[in-house]
Amino acid sequence: MLGLYVHIPFCSAICNYCNFNRGLFDVGLKEQYVAALLREIASQGDGSPADTIYFGGGTPSLLEPVEVGAIISACRRAFSLAPEVEITLEGNPETVTPERLAAFRAAGVNRLSFGVQSFRDGELKRLGRLHSAERAVEAIGLARAEGFDNISLDLMMWLPGQDVAQWLGSVEDAIRVGPEHMSLYILEVYPHLPLKQDIDRFGWSQESDEGVADMYETAMAKLESAGFEQYEISNVCRSGRQSRHNIKYWTDGNWLGFGPGAHSTWQGTRWRTVASTEDYVQRIHAGLPVAVDRRHLSNEERLGDALFTGLRMRDGIDLEVLSTRYGVDVWHRFGVRLAPHLDAGLLLRQDERLWLTRKGMLLANEVMSVFV
Ligand code: SF4
Repeated sequence: MLGLYVHIPFCSAICNYCNFNRGLFDVGLKEQYVAALLREIASQGDGSPADTIYFGGGTPSLLEPVEVGAIISACRRAFSLAPEVEITLEGNPETVTPERLAAFRAAGVNRLSFGVQSFRDGELKRLGRLHSAERAVEAIGLARAEGFDNISLDLMMWLPGQDVAQWLGSVEDAIRVGPEHMSLYILEVYPHLPLKQDIDRFGWSQESDEGVADMYETAMAKLESAGFEQYEISNVCRSGRQSRHNIKYWTDGNWLGFGPGAHSTWQGTRWRTVASTEDYVQRIHAGLPVAVDRRHLSNEERLGDALFTGLRMRDGIDLEVLSTRYGVDVWHRFGVRLAPHLDAGLLLRQDERLWLTRKGMLLANEVMSVFV
């Protein structure tokens, strides 16, 4: 079944580390944008079955619940939504109130993903986040009180000024608030973004490579002992609470992305939407196409993608299944170059199953480069 991704490119403030496609919230542009989005969804729909909708951003929780409801209705009219459709809304803790949460739920949202990033106020300030740790805990409590029983939160490690103990403190706080799902990312400091200058100006330090490896491995072990299972390099969940939408990206699935910069992959064809929000709105209202770089993927590219993304999953890949699907003996093709990673303890193979060890997950780019 299809997954539907809806991009909401607005934020109340721009975090100093952010490399996403977003801009400052502007109510006029937002209204034109939602109207454009509704038209794009209607024009793409052909009644195909879909079982996930994911509002990502940006900060989708800045939308009015009635706008979220209208977008969900547009998806319902354009596609054949499964009765148990998973509808995720990403949000920042400072944007939610009991009334808004209740209205999002009434509109059909049944999964929330909060951008918490840290439970340490100093760390949040250094990242330019607008919420405090206390506000994050409160937001999750409000969501629970409004009946949300599928909540995810994002945390980031390797933050400036963060040591291993502080990071593990955030992980423990996250366990305490009891989400069903967590995504744990390692901060990437891009040289062109303000965080890099802030780090240089204020002399903030980051843990060593060994330190960040310790952060990752100890956090995952801690989460496992608290009853979470790691199902992907950066994601853990309570039993059965994987992100059904994101799994489509990692298991060779089909999805359509709506909104600026969104990517789509459907039946071997891939495209993206123009990146600028203003350009997107103007094109849609002028009846011009917004999809660019549309191309059919070769068998070779599809196999490379399936290996690259499939190995992100804890269960790894089934060599026989992929060999049959793509008509290529995968081990014959890549085995010689993968063998050193098996010897180094980054990969494990049992019969036809191949998967990354935890150490391998940390060095995944090195292993995956075999397929690129
Ligand atoms: S809230 Fe998220 S998308 Fe918005 S600026 Fe911060 S990191 Fe970027």
